Amino acid sequence: MSRDISGIGMTSQRTRDRLAERLQAKGIRDRRVLNAIRRTPRHLFVEEALSSRAYEDTALPIGHCQTISQPYIVARMTEALLVPGVPREVLEIGTGSGYQAALLAQLVEHVYTVELIRELSVQARERIRKLRLKNVSFKQSDGSWGWPEHAPFDAIMVTAAPEEIPDALLDQLSIGGRMVIPVGRKSGMQRLVLITRLADRYEQEELEAVSFVPLVQGPKTS
Ligand code: SAH
Repeated sequence: MSRDISGIGMTSQRTRDRLAERLQAKGIRDRRVLNAIRRTPRHLFVEEALSSRAYEDTALPIGHCQTISQPYIVARMTEALLVPGVPREVLEIGTGSGYQAALLAQLVEHVYTVELIRELSVQARERIRKLRLKNVSFKQSDGSWGWPEHAPFDAIMVTAAPEEIPDALLDQLSIGGRMVIPVGRKSGMQRLVLITRLADRYEQEELEAVSFVPLVQGPKTS
């Protein structure tokens, strides 16, 4: 790895290892997720001025009033999608910084990620290119509509909170597929929900209380 990718001081491998240890202490058990956290240079996914804080377990601003999610939540959501089997194709809604997509790209065959704000999508693509992860496809659009051309997906991860789960996303989940999504009003408490699609119904399990930026939902434009 080049020096800016591997990091030094507050962005070093040692700091990443400590973050993984902290997440393990908070209850993240899956080795594959913890290893991906150890390998992924989160400092490249935030502005340089914030890089010394990149391995704190907190959400950080990424511009456009958006945030890179808290590492614990990223790990928790990723972990929830890896059982009972590793999904092949994953749809992520809300690319943001691209950090979550970079983690997923190391764990599954292909990641499709959709972001509403063009500039964030472009920056994320550039970061992921720099890390030489080639199995991520990017799209700039309203993710409430999913990405029908590539559906169905074995797993869907939504990283912005709608008030209600969009039907299009439920439709684009394969049978046996899982979706992890925060649901609720911005001001109120959101619930992180895990949905499993069975042959004839959807099963729903609540994971924990979370706080995400809202999923912006508008009329279909394309
Ligand atoms: N997964 C990101 C964090 C995402 S923050 C990361 O790892 O950094 C939530 C993101 O969802 C923001 O970038 C926001 O612009 C985006 N977003 C909000 N509403 C959206 C919509 N309808 N479609 C696609 N992206 C949306």
